[in-house]
Amino acid sequence: MDFALSTKAEEYFANLTDFMASHVYPAESVYHGWRLARGHDDHTLPPVVEELKAEARSRGLWNLFLPDVSGMSVLDYASLAEVTGRSPDLAPEALNCAAPDTGNMEVLHMFGSPEQRARWLDPLLAGEIRSAFAMTEPGVASSDATNITTSITRDGDEYVVNGRKWFITGAADPRCEIMIVMGKTDPEAPAHRRQSMILVPVDTPGVEVVRHLPVFGYQEQHGHSEIVFTDARVPAANLIAEEGDGFRIAQARLGPGRIHHCMRAVGMAERALELMCARAANRVAFGQTLAQQGVVQQQIAESRLAIEQARLLTLKAAWLIDTVGARAAAAEISAIKVVAPRMACEVIDRAIQVHGGMGVSDDVPLAAMYAQARAMRIFDGPDEVHIRTVARRELKPYLS
Ligand SMILES: Cc1cc2nc3c(=O)[nH]c(=O)nc-3n(C[C@H](O)[C@H](O)[C@H](O)COP(=O)(O)OP(=O)(O)OC[C@H]3O[C@@H](n4cnc5c(N)ncnc54)[C@H](O)[C@@H]3O)c2cc1C
Repeated sequence: MDFALSTKAEEYFANLTDFMASHVYPAESVYHGWRLARGHDDHTLPPVVEELKAEARSRGLWNLFLPDVSGMSVLDYASLAEVTGRSPDLAPEALNCAAPDTGNMEVLHMFGSPEQRARWLDPLLAGEIRSAFAMTEPGVASSDATNITTSITRDGDEYVVNGRKWFITGAADPRCEIMIVMGKTDPEAPAHRRQSMILVPVDTPGVEVVRHLPVFGYQEQHGHSEIVFTDARVPAANLIAEEGDGFRIAQARLGPGRIHHCMRAVGMAERALELMCARAANRVAFGQTLAQQGVVQQQIAESRLAIEQARLLTLKAAWLIDTVGARAAAAEISAIKVVAPRMACEVIDRAIQVHGGMGVSDDVPLAAMYAQARAMRIFDGPDEVHIRTVARRELKPYLS
């Protein structure tokens, strides 16, 4: 195994680290101040992010998640994703590398028709619009995607979509123009051939965004929306690939995406540890700095140990995707999807504790980071589903 960055990735890494220090961290208070002033029910993008996008683009830090654009491996990009995770509300979008657009762009890149790519992929790659991915439904346990009930029914030259989705990230953003919707085209087909994916423009008659769900009370800028589809009609040409390809596309979408999420979780944890150390070095309690207290030292050391383990495991999964492909690396990808968000929660929790009351306030980014890391243990597959995958691979030789 070789986790060394390529020369190109090293250049991007230095460029990105400089961009974070000179532009992104200073913009955080502007971003949060703007949102606070407007009220968190306003999902408009704070203008400072457009400024960051322009700067990132001029530096060549744009769409780096797509190997065909960046010329980098999944392993190379992983280390850049870690850096963006240090400022999760601003940096991924500044680089046009934010979920769920990244996964949606990958889908269109791999499976979209030339017309679909021209209509939706090009403006997404240009950072002009945003997109959403609509799979989860309130009515069924959606961690088992075979449960999805939304119907996508062919009617002449159109498909008609009916169903209710929720937690659809990005749909609250006024710039969100397109959704990839997963639903059943053939309820009688074998379980993994029933689902398809189709492009549904947000302004299609019959599409109603009914509310935006908070995450631990936070209304994130891009939002997580509940959406009802009532006889929403789209051209048949909006189907992605073939009827029944929904699972095949979902599998292809999730491999690299999980590396990105996990490395961002590592980045969040690194930032939390830095904040923890800085606070501990300066805060005096009972005649000593917190950093001099053995209990706090242990919390700091445990955090370092956990971060290093999670990072190495995630880099191994990225290296496996590059060398043997996402399918063969499925168990390792599942393993990191459990390990990295869990680790981030633990480290951020310790950092909150060391900050005392300030830790749960908005004066430091820890509480918001905790909410994001905790939610990560649920989205893109809850821990238990991934643990099941790891257990199955471990037990395979004994049960066959
Ligand atoms: C912040 C956030 C953003 C999201 N963004 C999106 C999005 O953009 N698009 C989208 O479609 N969805 C999105 N989701 C939804 C997310 O993907 C689902 O919540 C997730 O897949 C779980 O589905 P569910 O909520 O229906 O839980 P359920 O399927 O009802 O599962 C509930 C719990 O049951 C347990 N469980 C499930 N299966 C097993 C098992 N095999 N063994 C043991 N225990 C098990 C787990 O603890 C699980 O958490 C988002 C969720 C959050 C919180």
